[in-house]
Amino acid sequence: KKIVIAIDGFSSCGKSTMAKDLAREVGYIYVDTGAMYRAVTLFAMRNDVFDAEGNIDETRLKALLPDVKLTFQLNNETKLPEVCLNGENVERYIRTLEVSQHVSPIAALPFVREKLVEQQQAMGNEKGIVMDGRDIGTVVFPNAELKIFVTASAEIRAQRRFKELETKGMPADFDEILQNVEQRDYIDTHRETSPLRQADDALVLDNSHLTITEQKAWLMEKFNE
Ligand code: C5P
Repeated sequence: KKIVIAIDGFSSCGKSTMAKDLAREVGYIYVDTGAMYRAVTLFAMRNDVFDAEGNIDETRLKALLPDVKLTFQLNNETKLPEVCLNGENVERYIRTLEVSQHVSPIAALPFVREKLVEQQQAMGNEKGIVMDGRDIGTVVFPNAELKIFVTASAEIRAQRRFKELETKGMPADFDEILQNVEQRDYIDTHRETSPLRQADDALVLDNSHLTITEQKAWLMEKFNE
């Protein structure tokens, strides 16, 4: 029997590593909804939707959005889906600090969420899916059979993000990353449309002090229950 697994939680808490591992292990499709919001943000940055102060021209974005098509392309090596913006694989452009700094206000716009949530729900029709995001267990799939809410302290999350960027050859400033993590937490939990919150029936995983192996064992136990 194939189910929908909803994985929600704060930024950079290892959600996606966890969701990818789980999907691979159980043979499910992995969907990174953060990548979809990031791709729309990249689109907005490329199309002068932001002014110099970072304010969003909502009217402009609303007018352009119907022409934005998001699709997924399987990476031959990793076997993971990567997001394409109007046919262009933008995976390498969406993880930068610049996109991270612009994404939360874009994701707070109701007309952006409406479009992406609709597409996410359509992907769930096939079942056998692990979807990672902020509102999967609360809004996208309130009836998901398994819901996990992941959390870790802001400092630990910033450390992980710092190391990840370093490994990718994109060195950054730790304080800037920590500030970005805290800023995104604030916007994500305080926005009016689908704020980040734990679904009542979600299982909570605080992975501040767990290794990847321990985390995986915990997940497989929940999956098999
Ligand atoms: O998961 P990731 O950090 O890549 O997500 C980037 C941003 O997209 C988050 O900070 C959040 O503002 C937004 N997001 C969202 N809803 C989702 C997934 C991501 O609002 N389901």
